[in-house]
Amino acid sequence: MARRRTIRYAVIVGVVALGVCLFGYLGWELNVPSANAAGGVVSDPDGTAPDRYIYYPGTEALGADEIRLIALGTGMPAARRSQAATCWLVEVGNGDKFLFDLGTGANANLAALMIPFDFTRKVFLTHLHTDHWGDLPGLWAGGWTSGRTGPLEIWGPTGATKEMGTAYAIEHFLKAYNWDNMTRLANLPSAPGKIIVHEFDFKAENAVVYQENGVTIRSWPAIHAGDGAVSFALEWNGLKVVIGGDTMPNTWYRKYATNADVAIHEAFLTPEQLVKYYGQSPLSALGVGTYVHTPPQAFGKIMSEVKPRLAIAYHFFNESGTRYEVQEDIRETYDGPLSLAEDMLVWNITKDGITERKVVSPDEAWSVPGPNTPPDPDRTVPDQLSKWSLEHRWDLSETTAEMVKEFKAKYNMK
Ligand SMILES: [Zn+2]
Ligand SMILES: [Zn+2]
Repeated sequence: MARRRTIRYAVIVGVVALGVCLFGYLGWELNVPSANAAGGVVSDPDGTAPDRYIYYPGTEALGADEIRLIALGTGMPAARRSQAATCWLVEVGNGDKFLFDLGTGANANLAALMIPFDFTRKVFLTHLHTDHWGDLPGLWAGGWTSGRTGPLEIWGPTGATKEMGTAYAIEHFLKAYNWDNMTRLANLPSAPGKIIVHEFDFKAENAVVYQENGVTIRSWPAIHAGDGAVSFALEWNGLKVVIGGDTMPNTWYRKYATNADVAIHEAFLTPEQLVKYYGQSPLSALGVGTYVHTPPQAFGKIMSEVKPRLAIAYHFFNESGTRYEVQEDIRETYDGPLSLAEDMLVWNITKDGITERKVVSPDEAWSVPGPNTPPDPDRTVPDQLSKWSLEHRWDLSETTAEMVKEFKAKYNMK
């Protein structure tokens, strides 16, 4: 009898211990344990959940002492529907907004936040790989056609030579998109189609590259694939968010990211995952995964030194097939607060705390008008349609005459 009771007791203890382990694993270690759930108590059939662990864009004023960080792209160069390539939006309590990188596919996530294009004009690029600026065409032309009233401004590093720098890239970006540019200039206001470039020395260490309205943004070199990549730190109101960009572990990050409130750093897919899922040869995978980029164990070691209030790992396809391995590898060397980034996670950062939620946003978003009225076309270039084309125009103006007349009357147009 006593023996049976002992066995029963042992079984109960075992089950409880397993439960604690599982809770520990799922509840504490997993980074978004209940991002879509609602909390609190709903006692009234018509009641609403008082404590939602989700963020509806455009419904929360940012506190005067608060930073909101949103992951708009966290994945790989081969972007996929669930993960665009690198892009971070930092919204500051003073009203300023900054985009850090603009990787392939990120614009759709930015659009889902329904922020007027006039408020997303400042873009900081860590380096010129397409997975960090491949969606510039979309922001440039999309905003131009949908309410932006002034130019984009891009801050980015020099390179080892003039041809490897940001100014060269943007100048030739506009050349590559010359047909797009000229045909829009003939029909739209010209100011929102302009891009102002602020190029800064990629070698400068913890140097101020932007300072306005209480916000300071600093840059220091990153070591990634070729000279000319950088990391950024945004400082405001005693808070510091570090955007690491792509880099192998380096002493600059260790020095200048120390004591950040939030430190973002890449933790790449493991070499094995690069072979198994990403289609790389073992030789490429080992080089890319351990030399061009930072493996998860090294990410953990960095964060153990830097000791941020929250460490954010990004730059891997984050899904059930990969995240546990990435996390276990990080946990070999780091036991502090950790988020494994995925698209549309949002962090609210104050001195008192950091919360993480999932953004719930529409697929069919429109840009919301900003405070400035879009200017009329100034036609700085002539119509790009020649007489030759127009001679073959099928004139259907009679079929649209009534609609045009009503439109003109409504908007007092001649
Ligand atoms: Zn890169
Ligand atoms: Zn990258």
